[in-house]
Amino acid sequence: MVSINSSRLLADLDHLRRIGGMGTGVVRPAFSEKDMEARLWLKEQFELAGLTSTIDGVGNVFGRSKNDGPALLIGSHSDTQPEGGWLDGALGVIYGLEIVRAFQEDPSTKNLTIDAVSWQDEEGNFLSCLGSRSWCGILDDDIEKGCVSREGETLEAALKRTGLIDTPRLTVDEERYRGYLEAHIEQGNYLEDAGEKIGVVTAIVGIRGLTVLFEGEQNHAGTTTMARRRDAATAMFEMAYRINQEFPPVVNNRTVWTIGNAVIEPGAASIVPGRAELTVQFRDQDETLLNKLEQIVSSIANDINSRSVIKVQVVPSRAPIRPCNMHEEFIMKMGGAAELVVPGGWREMPSAAGHDPMVINEKLPCGMLFIPSIDGVSHNFKEDSHEEDIVIGCQVLADAAEAILK
Ligand SMILES: [Zn+2]
Repeated sequence: MVSINSSRLLADLDHLRRIGGMGTGVVRPAFSEKDMEARLWLKEQFELAGLTSTIDGVGNVFGRSKNDGPALLIGSHSDTQPEGGWLDGALGVIYGLEIVRAFQEDPSTKNLTIDAVSWQDEEGNFLSCLGSRSWCGILDDDIEKGCVSREGETLEAALKRTGLIDTPRLTVDEERYRGYLEAHIEQGNYLEDAGEKIGVVTAIVGIRGLTVLFEGEQNHAGTTTMARRRDAATAMFEMAYRINQEFPPVVNNRTVWTIGNAVIEPGAASIVPGRAELTVQFRDQDETLLNKLEQIVSSIANDINSRSVIKVQVVPSRAPIRPCNMHEEFIMKMGGAAELVVPGGWREMPSAAGHDPMVINEKLPCGMLFIPSIDGVSHNFKEDSHEEDIVIGCQVLADAAEAILK
């Protein structure tokens, strides 16, 4: 069995943390000066590890093994949120690098083929999963033209500024790859609460977002009798209350839903609200369940409409994201690897956060693995994981990669 070098792994994570480091966190949004510095450093590390390394025209860093396929591609993203943690993305990229080196050092694995990658802009400074979309050939020209960073820079300007505008963009060679593996911090607290070390991801949850619009009649709060008023806010509160009553009997213990925004217009103490708006979002790995929840919201709306006092309309508030299943064989091999390293100390679980495999899954079988996040904190300078867990995660991913390729 291949054995990873834990001190080399931790030293490289520490090095990457310092590029754009701010206190305990990291500020390295896609195409920032620090992001590009990190990408050049990674390119150099991939080369030192014996890979042929390239930064492609959209900023993805690839390290390609000189061995022929079938290959596994292993990595994650090295860009961060505007106030990011040091492990979100970086963990999976350095795992890829370390697994490449560990495989080469072991005579029993040195002929197996591992390529490494750091995707660009998973965090969506310009467009979420920009790099993996480009690699999968599903980056739409019109969408690309509309990409603007949080600072107001167009993607085209960023590509010119970083000198990438005329660099070719690489796309997936489906013949070469058996699949893609990514490790990530959990960014939640299921593993820590259970005292477990590894989460084998079964699926990345789908997301639905709805806006519910309520139309009544704006009027005087003193002179309008209760019998004749058409109060849009009352209907909105009914909707919110009934969602929280009617969802629990049909969901599972991992389903989440959020009423993230509520607007009452005109929003004054002495005016009966004429208009109201509620934003509802729900996430689950089961598309049938997502359909069911959407139907519940519609049926509550129909019920309120049927009383002919308030007009209710339900519209999508965002493009739906479909649940994305990880590859069965990879789930099994990761579970087997986890059981050997931490017997009984792992679980299968869905990912409630989005990741590049949502995109890559369109082209290649994908597998994902989680390690525990301390207090479940992420997208925050305080984000952290125990060193011991970081090391265990890398060993499990290396063992799973070996099992898949052998
Ligand atoms: Zn991430």
